[in-house]
Amino acid sequence: MNALAPDRTAPFYRPVAQEVALFDAAHAKGLPLLLKGPTGCGKTRFVEHMAARLGRPLYTVACHDDLSAADLIGRYLLRGGATEWIDGPLTRAVREGAICYLDEVIEARKDVTVVLHPLTDNRRTLMIDRTGEELVAPPGFMLVASYNPGYQNILKRLKPSTRQRFLSITFGFPDAATETAVVARESGLDAARVVPLVRLAGHIRALSGMDLEEGVSTRLLIYAATLIAGEMPIEQALQAAVVEPLTDEPDVAQALRDVIASVY
Ligand code: ADP
Repeated sequence: MNALAPDRTAPFYRPVAQEVALFDAAHAKGLPLLLKGPTGCGKTRFVEHMAARLGRPLYTVACHDDLSAADLIGRYLLRGGATEWIDGPLTRAVREGAICYLDEVIEARKDVTVVLHPLTDNRRTLMIDRTGEELVAPPGFMLVASYNPGYQNILKRLKPSTRQRFLSITFGFPDAATETAVVARESGLDAARVVPLVRLAGHIRALSGMDLEEGVSTRLLIYAATLIAGEMPIEQALQAAVVEPLTDEPDVAQALRDVIASVY
């Protein structure tokens, strides 16, 4: 939950569609943005890149099912016998006009939505009940959230009243040429040796939904390429970076190894 200081050298991000222009426009107008897409497809990297480009500090919060409004807003803590108010990451982001990124927002507890509503409409206000403060977000502040529509959990869908407060964009896996460039750059493996990995990913993603919950992520391809660049035999690297992370089922693992054998 640490703030990432603004930095002129933005982390490498290769745009896939019009996402940079949309983020710029949303930031300029103070509108919240929702990034939808599978895990490991570049959402977090994109936000880090944009925050650095725009010269705004970034507060990233990985949401989980125990994350409450108080975790975002802050709480009174006992310090040396006295109680002291400590801002949470969302409050700090509002005070500093920073970007706050709520990763997998759907995982958070329901009381988080109550906090987000006045912050994501034209009030742009964060209500801190415990201290009685009402902070109006300055122009640089922006709320970005991500969620993965792939996990079809009926209990965990964003309510329309929440979704309709955000501009939204769907992230998919990049096209083959882009993904090859990204994996080569991040892993140090020769682009020519990344090409079959990306082809393999295409075959595996075509299987997802049948026996696999989700296709192989760009992140896993980078792991595989990193191991291969470090001289690990391909079969061993793909077992550790692709097969094992994707499934616990022996049959599905064998099917994945068959797909690998058809590519290599
Ligand atoms: P997500 O937040 O969607 O789960 P990440 O942003 O953590 O995924 O992406 C995983 C990794 O994939 C990143 O660390 C980065 O190395 C790489 N990556 C994916 N897409 C891109 C892209 N378009 N440009 C640069 N790196 C990318």
